[in-house]
Amino acid sequence: MWRWIGGALALLGLVLCVRAVMLQSDVPIASEWTPEVLDEAAMLERFRGGLRIPTVSLQPGQGMDEEAFTAFRAYLAHHYPRVHAKLERETVSEHSLLFRWPGSDPSLAGTVLLAHQDVVPVDKGSEGDWVHPPYAAVVEGGFIWGRGSLDDKFGLFSILEAVENLLAEDFQPRRSLYLVFGHDEELGGPNGAVPIARLFAERRWPIGLVLDEGGAIAQGMVPGLDAPVALVGVAEKGYMSVILEVEGMGGHSSAPPDQSAIGILSAAITRLEENRFPMRLDGATRAFFEEGIGPASSFGMRLVYANLWLLEPLFLRALESSPLMASMVRTTTAPTIFHAGLKENVLPARAQATVNFRLLPGESGALVLDRVRKVIDDGRVTVSPLSEARESSPSSRIDSAAFATVSTTIREVFPGTVIAPYLLLGGTDSRYFRELCDCVYRFLPIALEPDGLRRAHGTNERIPLEGFSQGARFFRRLIENAEAARLGGDGAS
Ligand SMILES: [Zn+2]
Repeated sequence: MWRWIGGALALLGLVLCVRAVMLQSDVPIASEWTPEVLDEAAMLERFRGGLRIPTVSLQPGQGMDEEAFTAFRAYLAHHYPRVHAKLERETVSEHSLLFRWPGSDPSLAGTVLLAHQDVVPVDKGSEGDWVHPPYAAVVEGGFIWGRGSLDDKFGLFSILEAVENLLAEDFQPRRSLYLVFGHDEELGGPNGAVPIARLFAERRWPIGLVLDEGGAIAQGMVPGLDAPVALVGVAEKGYMSVILEVEGMGGHSSAPPDQSAIGILSAAITRLEENRFPMRLDGATRAFFEEGIGPASSFGMRLVYANLWLLEPLFLRALESSPLMASMVRTTTAPTIFHAGLKENVLPARAQATVNFRLLPGESGALVLDRVRKVIDDGRVTVSPLSEARESSPSSRIDSAAFATVSTTIREVFPGTVIAPYLLLGGTDSRYFRELCDCVYRFLPIALEPDGLRRAHGTNERIPLEGFSQGARFFRRLIENAEAARLGGDGAS
């Protein structure tokens, strides 16, 4: 009996180890690519000039700074004359830009590069915390400082530099190239990416590859892995806020009921926090571990990633201890606003709270609402959505020629980088293209400091000066590599 168990355990150990050994990454390709000689100083000055134009997306109802967007458009036209002379250009909703460079072979599906013109406002009261003024585009200490430097003018200018550069060499693509520069991404893209994606559908422009902002190259992020990791977003979480409301009796606080409006609402929120959404390790997040960082990790970690079929429950429990990792494997629950009471000795007649949810792919807004009602299970608490849910974006294919094209380009321009598909916690304009193409990826070609992404909407946004010009090289190489690839959608028309 014991011998039998010992034998089984030995066999299991062998299986685990063999699987870990077999979890190897593809042999790196021998790159034919040599970096172009670019006028990096001139590129930097063009970029800095763009940062100085405050194309801020104000909150809905606060209007918009038309002047800034008009100036920004004129700035681009002046500094990228070939793009503006040779590509077809359309403005959508006055300020969003759509460029089309028709390919010589109309049977090939197009490449779509997205970036957005708008930036988030600088938080009121935080101006003094900026090391350099947010719209001064100061270069100092190895960084380019400014609102929008990372999100997303780095992407926008890198794309324009790449295309201007190709035009200067009389490059003629066989595959059509589209540039989509929305002006309201920070507001969800209702007047930019939404109508532009609709135009693609109406005109039946086939798409083979979409690339937008999202991930970047991170280092020192994952235990057991020293190599830089290119995070390529292949799916996006959804977004929904729910209002919880309790009508109380009100009245004087000298004779309170057993449970006040505040008590009832607090209990409801506690139940939500104690009954978080179940964790799931699938889709983009599973691919992140198994196909992304797994093969490049130390043997110890590979033993885990290669054997999630067995170790998944333990692994999920480990992930749960980190809020960031937990957010990759479940729909998150975040109470964000609580309102009740006006006077110290008066019971509130009403208590209201807002809870924000980020939806895992596969969990719809309707499902979340239903579960919230079931978990609270209290007829005194009204549960209603604050607005329509933004549903999650399903995973794009990672076994596609389009994903291989993006990966190859990253490996060429950033040698030694590990490619990891992942689930984006936020939203981008590219989600509106997901219905048109199952090859939508989100990646900015820049290596970031550990807190780089956090700075994107915060104080002291900046990007490293070193590697700035690799952005333009990356997009140029991507366009070239897409030419040689056989993308889905090719030959469809
Ligand atoms: Zn952005």
